[in-house]
Amino acid sequence: MISGVSSGMGTADRFSTHRVENQPPPLAPYDAYATDLPLQEALRRHGGTWAEPEIAAFGPIAGGELMALGFAANENKPKFRPFDQYGHRIDEVDFHPSYHRIMEIGIAHGVPSFAWRHEERPGAHVARAALAYLHMQPEQGNNCPLTMTYASVPVLRHHSGLAAEWVPRATSTSYDQRSIPAWSKYGNTIGMAMTEKQGGSDVRRNTTRANPLSAGGPGQLYELVGHKWFMSAPMCDAFLVLAQTEAGPGCFLMPRFAPNGDLNAVRIQRLKDKLGDWSNASAEVELQGAVAWLIGEEGRGIATILAMVALTRQDCLIGSSAIMRQALVRAVHHAQYRTAFGKRLIEQPLMRNVLADLSLESEAAVALSLRVARAIDASPRDVRERALARVATAIGKYYVCKRCPAFVNEAQECLGGNGYIEESILPRLYRQAPVNSIWEGSGNIQCLDVLRALSRSPETREALFDEMNSARGVNAVLDSEIEQLAGELDSGESIEPYARRIVERMAIALQASLLVRSDNSAIAASFCESRIGGRPGAFFGTFPPGAPIDQLIRRAFPERD
Ligand SMILES: Cc1cc2nc3c(=O)[nH]c(=O)nc-3n(C[C@H](O)[C@H](O)[C@H](O)COP(=O)(O)OP(=O)(O)OC[C@H]3O[C@@H](n4cnc5c(N)ncnc54)[C@H](O)[C@@H]3O)c2cc1C
Repeated sequence: MISGVSSGMGTADRFSTHRVENQPPPLAPYDAYATDLPLQEALRRHGGTWAEPEIAAFGPIAGGELMALGFAANENKPKFRPFDQYGHRIDEVDFHPSYHRIMEIGIAHGVPSFAWRHEERPGAHVARAALAYLHMQPEQGNNCPLTMTYASVPVLRHHSGLAAEWVPRATSTSYDQRSIPAWSKYGNTIGMAMTEKQGGSDVRRNTTRANPLSAGGPGQLYELVGHKWFMSAPMCDAFLVLAQTEAGPGCFLMPRFAPNGDLNAVRIQRLKDKLGDWSNASAEVELQGAVAWLIGEEGRGIATILAMVALTRQDCLIGSSAIMRQALVRAVHHAQYRTAFGKRLIEQPLMRNVLADLSLESEAAVALSLRVARAIDASPRDVRERALARVATAIGKYYVCKRCPAFVNEAQECLGGNGYIEESILPRLYRQAPVNSIWEGSGNIQCLDVLRALSRSPETREALFDEMNSARGVNAVLDSEIEQLAGELDSGESIEPYARRIVERMAIALQASLLVRSDNSAIAASFCESRIGGRPGAFFGTFPPGAPIDQLIRRAFPERD
């Protein structure tokens, strides 16, 4: 102020322009399960009701403590420490304490183990899928080791001796972050290393060599020499690795510490500087004679490790559905409080169209995720469900993972500028969104896999069409689409160049058939009308008149009192 001139304002008045108005209250803490009607319905429909107490107990944690930890874990990226203070090679990665706490909570609640600990109960994989879906909303990076640990179990079981030792630790509910040999720990995490520089999709080109230390054969120790271009979560206690034997690719269990207790010869070269997935480390590693046990037969490595890949692909589908759910919740919450042009955003007709459309997409994604989980669950007992799991996992991974980035972007826009700011979580979700479509088989690979499965196995085709046809007779648009899809497969022409178009349509028809069989006929009809046969104009928010917009928004996320 110029000396002697009074502004006439008291000190308090000068800051009156800084009063915060028209901003929503913080979303978290909230109960991520109690507020998620579509998840509850899918869980019950697919046989997970008995696990509801455990899942419900996890809801407030996923929407509470884990939310805060997720921010800290991503603001503090892991650091590679090749040497200790005195120059000894230690190959360690330091994670922020919040990352370890997230791992501890996830493992304690059975995110990687619930399905195996309750295997005798139908629906155990469905219940685990629900837990993973909740856990993947506040923080996604740590789900990489949790998913891989869950998915490693069927592979470990290929060898009874290794399974007896490793499965109890991989399915433990205790997280043990110590960098010591796996067998001295309460619980273990398991990673995987397939991808090499010269080929990720085409793993037959792997050059890493495996030489037997004795006679060789299943359960025997080999020495691995080569490099891996991507090996995520390098602090896992062991890794399932593909390497070439005399008879072709073999699948190996490579512990971080060798059986003699020394650090195994797995040298981390550097950590990847990734677009997203910041809380998690992904490493390039050199295997300089690392010892590892052969699982399954020499030459059968790809077939052996596929049991793991099938489950990690399922989690890509669940992970993308979870990211979409979290983005939707943020968008609806914001719109419930923010006003513009005299009304709350949630009352603006065009915003309602966008939110309802996002809500429908999210409902369809979770319905498909839990249906795939049920097929996986029933696989050991039911041939048809096994065939469905085989093809529906690839269909779902392709389609839902591809929808995710555009979905998150649309949700961001609902928050306006706030959606572009880190504290809203949406930038993190946006960075994370593409990874599920890339890793564990990119889009084209999924689509080619679907065509291969359908052409090679009549049972797979039958299982897929049975599933879609079980919704026949309710919606004419869907009925005709299923017929057309069958016709395209029978056309006799090479359909490889059009694989994406066909698989996308299969995904939508599968989702539609699930919604048609649920209790919401208006929602199912709206899905068929808006998704089948092409959509006009903008990506989301293009419902024509008559769509069940109110119902969809009500179901998306409840209004607080
Ligand atoms: C964050 C992150 C973490 C990862 N963690 C791991 C890990 O822990 N362990 C691990 O083993 N790997 C990991 N990966 C690697 C990942 O699985 C591979 O990047 C992926 O499988 C693709 O392999 P690639 O990069 O070699 O691409 P390529 O195989 O070269 O594929 C490039 C493109 O070509 C397409 N393509 C390939 N073949 C065909 C075809 N026949 N017809 C049409 N299109 C085709 C693919 O769909 C893809 O779009 C990770 C990747 C990322 C991004």
